[in-house]
Amino acid sequence: MQPSVTMNDVEAAAQRLRGRADSTPLVPSLWAGADLWLKLEICQPIGAFKLRGALNAVEAVEADGVVCCSTGNHGRGVAWAARAAGKRAVICMSSLVPQAKVDGIRALGADVRIIGRSQDDAQAEAERLVEAEGLAEISPFDDPLVIAGQATIGAEIMAKKPETETVLVPLSGGGLAAGTGLSVKAANPKARVIGVSMDRGAAMAESLRAGRPVAVEEVPSLADSLGGGIGMQNRLSFPMCRDFLDEVVHVSEEEVYAAMQELFYTDRLVAEGASVVGLAALMTGKVDAKGPVATIVTGRNMDMDQFTRVITGRDVTLGDVTIKGRPHAA
Ligand SMILES: *Cc1c(COP(=O)(O)O)cnc(C)c1O
Repeated sequence: MQPSVTMNDVEAAAQRLRGRADSTPLVPSLWAGADLWLKLEICQPIGAFKLRGALNAVEAVEADGVVCCSTGNHGRGVAWAARAAGKRAVICMSSLVPQAKVDGIRALGADVRIIGRSQDDAQAEAERLVEAEGLAEISPFDDPLVIAGQATIGAEIMAKKPETETVLVPLSGGGLAAGTGLSVKAANPKARVIGVSMDRGAAMAESLRAGRPVAVEEVPSLADSLGGGIGMQNRLSFPMCRDFLDEVVHVSEEEVYAAMQELFYTDRLVAEGASVVGLAALMTGKVDAKGPVATIVTGRNMDMDQFTRVITGRDVTLGDVTIKGRPHAA
């Protein structure tokens, strides 16, 4: 049977998260371009929303250890949840994952394995460990409990601000967008839910266009948390994103750079590139938001040297591309 996620699952997740990973602030942005509200998942104890799905999924595991592949924040969430549940955690990541994220995971006591140059390589190692060591695998996005956990974000936005007309969701493997789409549309079927990805290496966006899961080449990005494939065997996040997203828009590295500056100088918020793609989509006019619009500020676990370069207007080199520095235009 095709697994599916319902609002009953989302309510059950909300109960499990209560007092630990719920009720992050929803605050108005000072940015003047729209009636913009920021859902501050950067206030989570691990600095990213992924704790919601991870806690919901790890609590259901019977094995005494868990394993996952991750672009960084899912691994941190799983490590945190495993520690809370007294379980062992092994986190498999590619060499594209920034050191700041690796360090954060190690600090939680998890066993970190750096494997290859893509999320697919890390995924293969996670699968091997399921067989070899009897660990339970927790997908970063294609798992009903993970999606139900992430869906609590949309439910909280709509409970706090029911008149929200548009929700902008950073889009990678699509667990966040699948869950947010479900819970926002359950509250108001007329509300628009728009996925935002970077314009290079956006696997879900390409897959939605192709009508089936496709692989894309992974490239370094300021929005590193949005890298990685969606899995050719994707069962859940792909069909849910297809059904719930009204649209997907793309932003460039330069646009992410400018939005990181904007969020810092205007709202004084420190957030990673993946967190600001919604703001970037508004700043560039790629999304036209007339009514109240909310975006999920998904995480803050970036490399601080890179962040400092961005806010001081210096060049940033990512693999073989350099983003030309530009001071923040006040
Ligand atoms: C994982 C992640 C995303 C994207 O979530 P998906 O469920 O993979 O689409 C966005 N922002 C941050 C900071 C993340 O860690």
